[in-house]
Amino acid sequence: MASFRRKPCFFNLGISAVNFDTSNIYSLAINERGAKTAIGLGLKVEVGLPSQFLDRYWNQANSLVLVMALPIVVRLLANRNLNKDTDPVVIAIDESGEFVIPVLGGHRGANRLASELSSRKGSTAVITTASEKKGISAADGLSGFSAQGEVAALIELMLEGLDPVIDNEINWPGPINLKNGAGPARIIISDKKMKLSENKASPEVQLIPASLVLGIGCSSDASAAEVGSLIETVLERNSLDIRAVAKIATIEIRRDHPAIVGQGIEIESFTAEQLDQVDVPNGSEAVRDHVGTRSVSEAAAILGSRFGQLLVTKEKSVKATVSIARIRPAGSIKLVGLGPGSSMMRTPQAVEALLGSEVVIGYQPYIEQCQELLSPHQLIIRSPIGDELKRVKLALEYASAGRSTAIVCSGDPEVFAMASITFEVLHSTSISNGTKPTDLPEVSVVPGITAGLASGALLGAPLGHDHAYLSLSDLLTPWETIENRIEKFAEADITIVIYNPQSKTRTWQLPKALDIIAKHRKPQTAVAIVKNVGRQNQQKLISTLDSVDPGIVDMNSVVIIGSSTTTRFGDYIFTPRGYRI
Ligand code: SAH
Repeated sequence: MASFRRKPCFFNLGISAVNFDTSNIYSLAINERGAKTAIGLGLKVEVGLPSQFLDRYWNQANSLVLVMALPIVVRLLANRNLNKDTDPVVIAIDESGEFVIPVLGGHRGANRLASELSSRKGSTAVITTASEKKGISAADGLSGFSAQGEVAALIELMLEGLDPVIDNEINWPGPINLKNGAGPARIIISDKKMKLSENKASPEVQLIPASLVLGIGCSSDASAAEVGSLIETVLERNSLDIRAVAKIATIEIRRDHPAIVGQGIEIESFTAEQLDQVDVPNGSEAVRDHVGTRSVSEAAAILGSRFGQLLVTKEKSVKATVSIARIRPAGSIKLVGLGPGSSMMRTPQAVEALLGSEVVIGYQPYIEQCQELLSPHQLIIRSPIGDELKRVKLALEYASAGRSTAIVCSGDPEVFAMASITFEVLHSTSISNGTKPTDLPEVSVVPGITAGLASGALLGAPLGHDHAYLSLSDLLTPWETIENRIEKFAEADITIVIYNPQSKTRTWQLPKALDIIAKHRKPQTAVAIVKNVGRQNQQKLISTLDSVDPGIVDMNSVVIIGSSTTTRFGDYIFTPRGYRI
């Protein structure tokens, strides 16, 4: 059976993205104080004997977080057979949670995981690897690639300022910040099987992208062993590296077949109808009579590679066929919501999206908001306020060149943020160039906790019943439209959440809005102002429509106006849903 990527690096995201799966961080504390620290960091934790814990999770975990003194961790690790390429990421955290220390796998995710964890409670990540310190991409931590060769010698030369010669004959989008230099080191970007020079003075490192798709067909009585050995033989015969395999592509009816699933490789499947539409070198009518398509392995490899290059046409064993295609790199745009501020209010999906992006674009303060997740491997583009269109156009440019690109937003990307303008640009690009939406880079939206929801939570439950979000920004929407909506929302007796309520230049709109609302609601209606929710200096202030002081509202505030049923209860307000209690 072909075995590879048995232990995909947690953060080694890229073409074959591994999910950022918080359930795959195993953490252990040796006492209750440590357990509390782990829980405070949002980790699931066991309390017990460390050596038993390591025995249990060493081979199955991607990341182990040990909440205990560093000397204990060192002694525990001294008893194990360590292997730089396959060890899990190991992080030590002192009992009080003040220091988060990457112990093993710094370049394979430990540094970034430590930075992420430390951001959750404002503790310190103790990063000691030289390349991170100097802001250099460490070749063995590059997203989307496996590395082999004289990595340490290469990094040494890079630290001395000597950029390697880059040899990229397969024309795969290389690490974005890697500069082509004069050597003496050499980086070869390739999915081929290679013998590298062992000369440390002119070190060679191969970066292996996840660039290959194995198209596989098999009969219903094929075994995993047969398919595995066919894969190995075909890769060997064609000098392709097994670590470059991104996925298996096959026909829908074999998707769950043990011979396919048994390879332990990500699977993509296509219907017979989809496969039959692909032009292939070796189609067969007999196969069509049997499964409804003239080709399984070649057609699946072609579809799975997004019509990339078919490198190996159909090769057979008794009960299986394999073809191999090289993926056509496709860029993507992810609109990533960071939540209102604190990293505890950021979703793991947002973290995953950021770690897996080669380019991260955002308004400067939002880049700062996720700073601890960013690395020297990424191209970070800080953009001034008001440059929204430029941000999208840049993202589209990078994505069209095959790069995974993220645009970061505070809160949620849909709520008065970058998602709609991105779709507007794609829509108009598609119309003006006549491009089909499916031929443009893939776009996805990663939701975040919007300021209104975070504020609602801080206040209790003002959004417990129907409510509306309203922006007072009249930069893009005429004031008459806004005023008309305020009037209608006020009449509708629903809670109103006001974004962009006031700024140095937006001064008269909020008092005007409150006047309009006061025509429809009682003077005692609850009004709340929340400033800097989820950030330092978070403040909430509960008042009423006739006594609220709009003067204290700034651009980092939301204003929530209750409905007729919104009730004050101490430091909280809530809107009942109508239960009879
Ligand atoms: N996409 C963001 C909203 C961007 S519009 C979201 O979903 O939250 C900018 C407005 O959002 C600000 O003027 C303010 O009204 C509100 N806002 C954003 N972050 C905030 C925070 N941390 N505290 C209070 N209001 C915030």
